Amino acid sequence: MKKKLDYLIVGQGLAGSFLAFQLLQENKSFMIVDKGLSFSSSHIAAGIINPLVLRRYTKTWRAEEFLEYNEGFYDKIHSFLSKKYHFKLPIKKLISSKEEEMFWHQRLKKEDLSDFIEPELKNGEDLISIKKHFKYGNVKQTSWLNISAFLEDFRKYLNSNQLLVEEEFEYTLLKNQQYKAIEFEKIIFCEGSKAKNNPFFPTNAFSLNKGQLMTIKSESLQSKDILKKKVFVLPIKGNEYKIGATYSWKWNQTCDKGNHEVETEKTEQLKDMFNEIFEGEYTIKNIEAGVRPAVKDRRPLIGKHPKKEHIYFFNGMGSKGCFMAPLLSKEFTNYLEKSQELTPDVNIQRYFLS
Ligand SMILES: Cc1cc2nc3c(=O)[nH]c(=O)nc-3n(C[C@H](O)[C@H](O)[C@H](O)COP(=O)(O)OP(=O)(O)OC[C@H]3O[C@@H](n4cnc5c(N)ncnc54)[C@H](O)[C@@H]3O)c2cc1C
Repeated sequence: MKKKLDYLIVGQGLAGSFLAFQLLQENKSFMIVDKGLSFSSSHIAAGIINPLVLRRYTKTWRAEEFLEYNEGFYDKIHSFLSKKYHFKLPIKKLISSKEEEMFWHQRLKKEDLSDFIEPELKNGEDLISIKKHFKYGNVKQTSWLNISAFLEDFRKYLNSNQLLVEEEFEYTLLKNQQYKAIEFEKIIFCEGSKAKNNPFFPTNAFSLNKGQLMTIKSESLQSKDILKKKVFVLPIKGNEYKIGATYSWKWNQTCDKGNHEVETEKTEQLKDMFNEIFEGEYTIKNIEAGVRPAVKDRRPLIGKHPKKEHIYFFNGMGSKGCFMAPLLSKEFTNYLEKSQELTPDVNIQRYFLS
């Protein structure tokens, strides 16, 4: 007879993958059901990790805790898959006016941001093909996760260990602790924005937003660091860069296609914002769009269904999955396996109550 699994996970994006990795560390048994959509949020994401909100120069929620945990977590992933996916990568925040310069210095003093931004601004002479009037300031403790490479390799691991079922999960076939022939103790939905179709998921939690970014090729843009103004410019390999990203709360959500459909207006917006800083030649290699699993109160959605004891969720990573999901997946595993409490601000219960 087949053994009952500890967990069935639905979704192999960043959330499902990191959670599965934590369960492996605890020697728990699981299977993942994932259709393998190449346009999920995790596949589209740039993978930038930045503990600051650069518009206001404020630290993001739990910034220090996430930073401290991430280092060791990503090292474990590197050893496990024998490859490096997470790289330290400075962000150069471009500055073009006296007001912006003053703001940089003001925030540095007021917010005690000395661990996150360097005090002096640079005159920008070393920026290649960036318009001459830009100075910049260095943002510290930033990094880049090569998400697509990680997801692909982790998927190979899952496949070669018979831990993955490559199909769309059908809710009507879930019968208590059984899905088709798979029996399990607990099911954990990690479906990102697609959870809006899940009949067990709270209907009022998401404030989904769609993002678009483009990959360009340019010989003249020779930045090894991330540049940030209205758009970010992320070096990915050779002469290729990702330029992004847009935010939109209104799009055609009536069909799944609308969620990843590239919109001409957004492409123009990206080009305009890039042309404000760049003065060289480039060609567009591809343009992609996806939906961020963002939540109304900007906090993750983790925990148990209020009535169905075996149903759980790990979702709501918004625009910061690479930054938050490592520690949150550890905390969620401790909740599942060691009965450690979830903090109320992440607990999905808050949306079942309202
Ligand atoms: C344009 C853009 C840029 C971004 N840039 C960054 C960035 O620079 N840094 C950062 O940290 N974050 C970024 N993000 C956000 C990041 O992508 C998310 O925080 C994170 O990837 C969400 O991961 P997830 O696993 O929760 O969801 P998803 O990535 O959506 O994964 C869900 C998975 O579940 C599967 N699935 C869903 N429903 C079913 C079903 N019924 N049956 C089978 N499988 C199913 C899907 O196929 C998918 O594989 C960006 C997002 C966008 C859109």
